[in-house]
Amino acid sequence: IWLFYGPLQWFTSIMNSSTNAFASAERIFSILDEEQETYKVEDNTYLPKVQGEICFRDVRFSYDKGQEVIKGISFHIMPGEMIGLVGKSGAGKSTIMNLICHLYKIDSGQVIIDGNDLQQINIEQLRQSLGIVPQESFLFNSSIFENIRCSRPQASFQDVVRAAKAANAHDFIVNKENGYDTLIGEKGSRLSGGEKQRIAIARAILHDPPILIFDEATSSVDSQTEKSIQEAIANLVKGRTTIAIAHRLATLRHASRLFVIDDGKIVEKGSHEELIKTQGRYASLVKAQEENNQLRSKTNFIRG
Ligand code: ADP
Ligand code: MG
Repeated sequence: IWLFYGPLQWFTSIMNSSTNAFASAERIFSILDEEQETYKVEDNTYLPKVQGEICFRDVRFSYDKGQEVIKGISFHIMPGEMIGLVGKSGAGKSTIMNLICHLYKIDSGQVIIDGNDLQQINIEQLRQSLGIVPQESFLFNSSIFENIRCSRPQASFQDVVRAAKAANAHDFIVNKENGYDTLIGEKGSRLSGGEKQRIAIARAILHDPPILIFDEATSSVDSQTEKSIQEAIANLVKGRTTIAIAHRLATLRHASRLFVIDDGKIVEKGSHEELIKTQGRYASLVKAQEENNQLRSKTNFIRG
């Protein structure tokens, strides 16, 4: 049944529904494997170490036969590069993420990581090399410490603190009554949106994957928190290949290139400045978001 959900959503729902929840990414993927009987890969190649070069060559994909969702996408991402995916809802952004995670078999074309066809790469190694920060981070009703450590269960207290500091989370954590032992409540109900995001970032920093898949949360935060989150993201993406679906323009500022996705195709590629100059699809998305933000701040002003 998980096929009815995007795997990232599925991933989240498992984490939320799990009571004995110290599931690592590996365990989640192994559950995924059990459910996913229809698609097995021949996974013989272990890469010496995943560097994070990702290449799509004319990739086509459909969830349901005859309904192509990815309609011939090609790109080449260098190790350590950060790419932002933008485009309206339903364009195919999450599907591209799913294909990089090898959750589905593509119809035609090639997905290549470090020069090796994804079909040949050992699936466990691939999954350990991928860090996923989903839109709704899966938090479980346990301590802040456990919620960060779950990405690397053998990590020491010092490792967790180091990750929390890099995620700009340490200060708010130690200001809580029980510090790292503070219980966060059901789905993190005792944390603010911005705190939850930084816990998710700390967890990903601790995991330390060469490839990061980042689906930004949309929750609105005050400008000080916004600044703190942006710094945390900058620390997170440093030295990793990052593919980010970002809803806030500030996040995309870290990206070296943006791919604008529309109806399963890349319709524009370039840096923020280049795409603004072109006055195309991206420029109009930016304009729409700015107008929306202005409207929102006006409304807040009236309310407030
Ligand atoms: P985006 O992330 O850009 O909003 P998605 O990649 O989630 O877009 O979706 C692209 C298209 O694929 C949409 O038309 C969506 O309805 C469809 N789709 C997404 N996931 C599934 C699925 N698991 N099964 C069938 N269709 C799907
Ligand atoms: Mg999506």
